[in-house]
Amino acid sequence: MSRSKKSARINNAIKFLSAALVIIAVIAWNYFTAPSAPVIGTAEFYFFDVGQGDAELIRTSDTVVLIDAGPSSASDLIVAQLHKLGVRTIDVAIFTHPHEDHIGGAAAVIDNFEVVQAILPDVAATTSTYEKMLDALEKSENTTVTAGAAGDVIEVGSDGLRLELLAPCSTGYENMNDYSIVVRAVFGDNAVIYSGDAESLSESEILDSASLGALKADILKVGHHGSVSSTTEEYLSAISPKYAVISCASDNSYGHPHAETLSKLEAHSITVFRTDIDGDIVFVSDGEVIQPKA
Ligand SMILES: [Zn+2]
Repeated sequence: MSRSKKSARINNAIKFLSAALVIIAVIAWNYFTAPSAPVIGTAEFYFFDVGQGDAELIRTSDTVVLIDAGPSSASDLIVAQLHKLGVRTIDVAIFTHPHEDHIGGAAAVIDNFEVVQAILPDVAATTSTYEKMLDALEKSENTTVTAGAAGDVIEVGSDGLRLELLAPCSTGYENMNDYSIVVRAVFGDNAVIYSGDAESLSESEILDSASLGALKADILKVGHHGSVSSTTEEYLSAISPKYAVISCASDNSYGHPHAETLSKLEAHSITVFRTDIDGDIVFVSDGEVIQPKA
């Protein structure tokens, strides 16, 4: 081999090694600088500002639970948020019901993260958004897809996070919103209820089927973006939350949240957080006290 050929090969080898080292350094940097998960014994509850829609995340030391993925217009945003939090695997993804403002970002989430279990209500839709989500789930070979309904209880991770499904209690609803999976997430003494878009019919079924003590929660993610069709007086009294979270876009065309819902929350002296005003909202629980993250 000529001297010039030999030096060219050495140069190529050096270039290849340098490129490999850069890639390894970038991977290591991302790995070690990714924000760490909550410490053992604590849980974080995120309510993302995705405009007009819902996307919530629960994280413990060893578990990630996603409830809804926002509208398709927020697909990039929700993927970026999860990356920013260092999420790689989603242990449980609950897509409450097939409306676009809840599952529009689902395909992007399923494509970008390892989803272990996806839970959907037992109802189909004919929309392209719904088809896109189903296609993504089908492609995602390691994802188990199950139908969720009232009475299901899922223990997630080893830190005591429990998901109790409160709805849907039945089938054959005329209104798709009433198919919403309603989740009570329990962590130690704390609980958060995620109402999806469940309306008064589903709320009354929840009140009929659950023992009232089992509905208490510190935080209520208010149903249907604060619409007047949800959050009956009875439902609110049974849950008796300290905090309420409303997920909606500012100046949305639906008039969410409705003034009547806001005055009901005020009459119960509930502190209200709104994604249209507060942006992303985060609460932290140590299993005894849950409070907004400073
Ligand atoms: Zn909605």
